[in-house]
Amino acid sequence: RGIVSPGADLEERDLEGALRPRLLADFVGQDRVREQLSLVLNGARNRGRAPDHILMSGGPGLGKTTLAMIVAAELGAPLRITSGPAIERSGDLAAVLSTLQEGEVLFLDEIHRMARPAEEMLYVAMEDFRVDVMVGKGPGATAIPLDIAPFTLVGATTRAGLLPAPLRDRFGFTAHMDFYAAADLELIVRRSARLLGVELEDDAAAEVARRSRGTPRIANRLLRRVRDYAEVRGDGRLDLRVARAALALYEVDERGLDRLDRAVLDALLRRFRGGPVGLSTLAVSVGEEPETVEVVAEPFLVRAGLIARTPRGRVATPEAWEHMGVEPPPGPTP
Ligand code: ADP
Repeated sequence: RGIVSPGADLEERDLEGALRPRLLADFVGQDRVREQLSLVLNGARNRGRAPDHILMSGGPGLGKTTLAMIVAAELGAPLRITSGPAIERSGDLAAVLSTLQEGEVLFLDEIHRMARPAEEMLYVAMEDFRVDVMVGKGPGATAIPLDIAPFTLVGATTRAGLLPAPLRDRFGFTAHMDFYAAADLELIVRRSARLLGVELEDDAAAEVARRSRGTPRIANRLLRRVRDYAEVRGDGRLDLRVARAALALYEVDERGLDRLDRAVLDALLRRFRGGPVGLSTLAVSVGEEPETVEVVAEPFLVRAGLIARTPRGRVATPEAWEHMGVEPPPGPTP
């Protein structure tokens, strides 16, 4: 995986545990989501009931899992974690649902990747706290309704648009997670540095934050790489010079673009002369799945003002040519 790919590998998952804020008050940024969530949770606490089901929508590494854990912690409720790809049959879901404790928070990551038959079981469970267990096969099969404990579903998805409407409608609240402002990322980087016991100079923290693609997971990862660099190549001091040298080594550019971002831009500019080009064509030309380009690279490139989406496809902005140092073809740009 690239240094700034927002997905986490296994080793990183462990490290991330240590850096995760535990309570809403420690969660930096996403002010609106934090305020909305705090209302939902306080309302539920006051009524002494489980809150509505919550959907978290946003790109990888923005804090969806962290917030799900916070929801459980704030409610003082147990937390069960599973994911869409782990639910291949409705029976897999029935097994989880029927063993939930009252008030438990069920975190379902990548909910858009759950098997279709399980989706329907989930609708009923969310609404009526019931699962219909099928007994027997063929014409003699019967559904036996089974009551389950009231629970709170926290679903997470990188692609809210892929959720079927009946599923989306059963969430009482959707938290839209967006890229973080540099100032918030700076707070996150400093907090992580404190937790890791490293002394990071202020301008180095700002540099790491600025180049983190608006994503806390990447900020934490870059911080660890800067720390490695300081320990191995430097005298342990984490200053701006060391931060820049480490980031250059890991091919994170001035604006935080990584290898994939740059490959996508490069293809768009050189091969497709700035577009418009369809997303899947663009993905094929950089050897990636369209979903990776759409979920991982494109949102940030759009946010950074380097790519624009048009009805005819993706086009490069004048800033993209400039940033990549590529001469635009003569004539009007699209
Ligand atoms: P997602 O589930 O959206 O992929 P995670 O919740 O796993 O993202 O977050 C990735 C990492 O970023 C975690 O280690 C977490 O500590 C950190 N993180 C995410 N959001 C915040 C935040 N608002 N404040 C501090 N750290 C955060």
